[in-house]
Amino acid sequence: MRVNLSTDIMYLGGVGPKKAELLRKELNIHTIGDLLRYYPYKYVDRSKIYKISEIVDDLPYIQLIGKLIRIDQTGVGPKKRLTAIFSDETGMVELVWFKGIKWVEKNIKLNSNYLVFGKATLFNGRFNIAHPEIEEYKPENDKTKSSFEAAYNTTEKLKNSYLNSKYIHRLQQTLAFQTQFDIEETLPAHLIDRYKLMTLPEALKQIHFPDNSTLLQKSQNRLKFEELFYVQLGLLKQRSLRLSKQNGHVFKVVGDMFNRFYREKLPFELTDAQKRVIKEIRRDMGNGKQMNRLLQGDVGSGKTLVSLMCMLIAMDNGYQSSIIAPTEILANQHYLTITKLLGDLPVKVGLLTGSTKKSERKVLHNDLLSGTTNILIGTHALLEDIVQFKNLGFVTIDEQQRFGVAQRAKLWDKNDNPPHVLVMTATPIPRTLAMTLYGDLDVSVIDQLPPGRKPIKTIHFTDAKRNLVFGLMREQIKQGRQIYVVYPLIKESEKMENLKDLQDGYESITRAFPQPEYVTVVVHGQMKPDDKEFSMNLFAKGKAHIMVATTVIEVGVNVPNATVMVIESAERFGLSQLHQLRGRVGRGADESHCVLMSSVKLTHESRKRLETMVATNDGFQIAEVDLQLRGPGDLEGTQQSGLPFELKIASLSKDSQLLQYVRQVAMEILDEDPQLVLSQNAILNLQLEKAEKQKVNFSQIS
Ligand code: ADP
Ligand code: MG
Repeated sequence: MRVNLSTDIMYLGGVGPKKAELLRKELNIHTIGDLLRYYPYKYVDRSKIYKISEIVDDLPYIQLIGKLIRIDQTGVGPKKRLTAIFSDETGMVELVWFKGIKWVEKNIKLNSNYLVFGKATLFNGRFNIAHPEIEEYKPENDKTKSSFEAAYNTTEKLKNSYLNSKYIHRLQQTLAFQTQFDIEETLPAHLIDRYKLMTLPEALKQIHFPDNSTLLQKSQNRLKFEELFYVQLGLLKQRSLRLSKQNGHVFKVVGDMFNRFYREKLPFELTDAQKRVIKEIRRDMGNGKQMNRLLQGDVGSGKTLVSLMCMLIAMDNGYQSSIIAPTEILANQHYLTITKLLGDLPVKVGLLTGSTKKSERKVLHNDLLSGTTNILIGTHALLEDIVQFKNLGFVTIDEQQRFGVAQRAKLWDKNDNPPHVLVMTATPIPRTLAMTLYGDLDVSVIDQLPPGRKPIKTIHFTDAKRNLVFGLMREQIKQGRQIYVVYPLIKESEKMENLKDLQDGYESITRAFPQPEYVTVVVHGQMKPDDKEFSMNLFAKGKAHIMVATTVIEVGVNVPNATVMVIESAERFGLSQLHQLRGRVGRGADESHCVLMSSVKLTHESRKRLETMVATNDGFQIAEVDLQLRGPGDLEGTQQSGLPFELKIASLSKDSQLLQYVRQVAMEILDEDPQLVLSQNAILNLQLEKAEKQKVNFSQIS
């Protein structure tokens, strides 16, 4: 039959309805086009056979030929494993299987020749290969293999039905060599010429069946270029549309309120970074365009203050402002901080959260409509339609991750003209990620901490060293300081178990720090709000020495007298979370400590995370490592935070240069042709529309 890119995958030779269903469900491959765009995740050099004696640490995947001289099964239940000693004339390595043991056992036998393929790692001074590919080796069958063989990701379910990497490889072969169809170019000719890119049909051939490493690289480059280019073009087009269409409120003056605050209330000098950022924001808010700006700054760099000063400028120009925080605790905290900083200045600040009483709400709503309230601080609650402002001019969204574009858009409905929007994030984001996630926003960075902060000393202890930790805690309490002890709460489904960890931890701490000499409070997400607040307040007021908590304290708690952060099971936290938690201490003038407690056994990744925490306090550096660790194609964390598309081949951690390059290319095109109306750019619009349809639904990101 005549096939094209949108032909159902079911009709490809070797597929059929059953397998098609699996491919659809497991890999999201619906059509022939989807299969073509299902790229290999690695290539294997099948031209070289290694000798066992040649194995050194850090080799990529290798091939060996030899015999199995011993097969053992050990352990029971989840600890069950199958090990085999594999040997050639130069030495021995161990092969290990943790899963699929039955199948392997049935299919391998002693003393026949095998071709083994896998990654050798050093373990207890010996090399072993976990879950190798293994097939019987028959010299007569040894077809000369292309030197690069593509390998494809599959899932457990697929493997169980024998739909493994080899199967996908065969499907690609069928597609490439037995099926005739046209592949239409997706980039305009002028780009292909100008940047010497491989054409799409050639690139799709080389990506699956590379002739050599140069052509493989060229094809990868072409496909990554395309992918990143369209992401950037889409974002930048949105931005230019916004700038051309959306009128912004013009904040002409810096007036009385700002100046009085600056002269009479500001308890310290602004840092140079804060000054620079306030200038950037002022410029944006004065030029008649609507501002959409991302403010990045490490925990404690003084973002809230920047936001407050911008709100005072809004007020000086007759506008209202608002801060939206992701949690009630944080909203309360902002309210306290801001009202305290403002002191007796005539600024009316309101607080609106889920627990604001009905009667208070009514008053609030009225004051907002009449314009009496100048600043409204709150949670998502203030996005509700019933909350209407007289003239909202400036909005700060704190901790952006949890806010989708759709929610931002909701703010715009509150007025004829949308307010200026400042998105603040305390989780520093690597440049490439920022360009991709917030490519439609302008970016400001506070890259400097207020003076006099002492870096937080971070130590990693295994559970056996608990007494040392208790010693440190005792000594700090003696000096009048306070301490956090945090337990992980990873998944909803683990709630009860985590709570038990927390209860046990609390008990062991109260044994080591008995009442009445010491006061310890507990805070966790499942407590009644009143109880939670009571405990938090005890701690905030310095009446409790220790707070045992889950990550509810991750954002926003500000107790400068707390100098020790103990993080239990630290290996279970992600890097950015660890960094956030650590940011809860080191807020006063005293030296602070962060203690990472973990078990002795650590995965490579969790070890790297803990080492990074010990090595640096720099949030941007930590964010880079985080991105490297999670690696290409595994950006789950960012997907949750709203990466609105899937990257199939480009990697935000590895392709940062290309990303900056294509962003430049996209900018140049839009400078010349902002609406993409030139005929040479017709194809760009078409592709953007297609991409738009495939986008993750923004409103589902929370
Ligand atoms: P962020 O929101 O960036 O985490 P905050 O705005 O909460 O940081 O500021 C952290 C602490 O530092 C607050 O106690 C704040 O009052 C203080 N602070 C902010 N700017 C300065 C500055 N320029 N000099 C000294 N302290 C500052
Ligand atoms: Mg903050």
